[in-house]
Amino acid sequence: MKVLVAVKRVIDFNVKIRVKADNTGVETANVKMSMNPFDEIAVEEGVRLREAGTASELVVVSLGVEQCRETIRTALAMGADRGILVHTDAELQPLAVAKLLKAVIGRESPDLVILGKQAIDDDSNQTGQMLAALMGWPQGTFASNIGLGDAGAAEVTREVDGGLETVSLELPAVITTDLRLNEPRYASLPNIMKAKKKTIDTVTPEELDVDVAPRLVTLKVEEPPKRQAGVIVDSIPDLVQRLRNEAKVI
Ligand code: AMP
Repeated sequence: MKVLVAVKRVIDFNVKIRVKADNTGVETANVKMSMNPFDEIAVEEGVRLREAGTASELVVVSLGVEQCRETIRTALAMGADRGILVHTDAELQPLAVAKLLKAVIGRESPDLVILGKQAIDDDSNQTGQMLAALMGWPQGTFASNIGLGDAGAAEVTREVDGGLETVSLELPAVITTDLRLNEPRYASLPNIMKAKKKTIDTVTPEELDVDVAPRLVTLKVEEPPKRQAGVIVDSIPDLVQRLRNEAKVI
């Protein structure tokens, strides 16, 4: 079984995000970038399938600027076999990413495609669903467990509002990862060295014949309003009086 995992390069989750002075977006210059945390989980799941012998090949793909190569290298150091960079400097929105992934799938013919449930930069939570729709494949989103017992099917436990839901998907399928699926490993130094020798192929949207033109225009990006400092009240009657007279919520 061949597994394809999509890894996005995003601003590191520890970085305090700053909005650009002209309100056109978020400051990315001189900011630490890392692999999207949900994609680390996707890579870990792929590596585990590879180690268990369930998967025969694990391919990772990243779409975006040249530096996405570093994100691919991280995945290769975790245990993926080879990488594909879909190289473009254009802004990529989820629909464009899904179309590009569809084109990559057309070339690679994986049995299973694993994505993160969302990218922590745009928080769209759209790409996996759009990809499954474009492919006409079943999807198991927000996966907290993946079982690949029977040949040709995947049992996916999904984290839904009411609890856990288990669905059975016929392969090929798209799965998106939730936080509790696994705990991603750190790449060891020997594996980081080994990863330098693994192949990363490069392809462009033009070569894949995909139109990546944005369908949405961002009008303005603003910081959320600053929260005002709270007050410590002396008593419950004081609290009630403030809720009634100042906050006007009761
Ligand atoms: P989103 O729909 O933008 O929240 O992203 C969901 C998932 O799609 C991510 O966790 C990635 O697995 C994948 N994805 C989105 N954009 C990219 C990209 N530029 N390169 C690789 N994977 C991506």
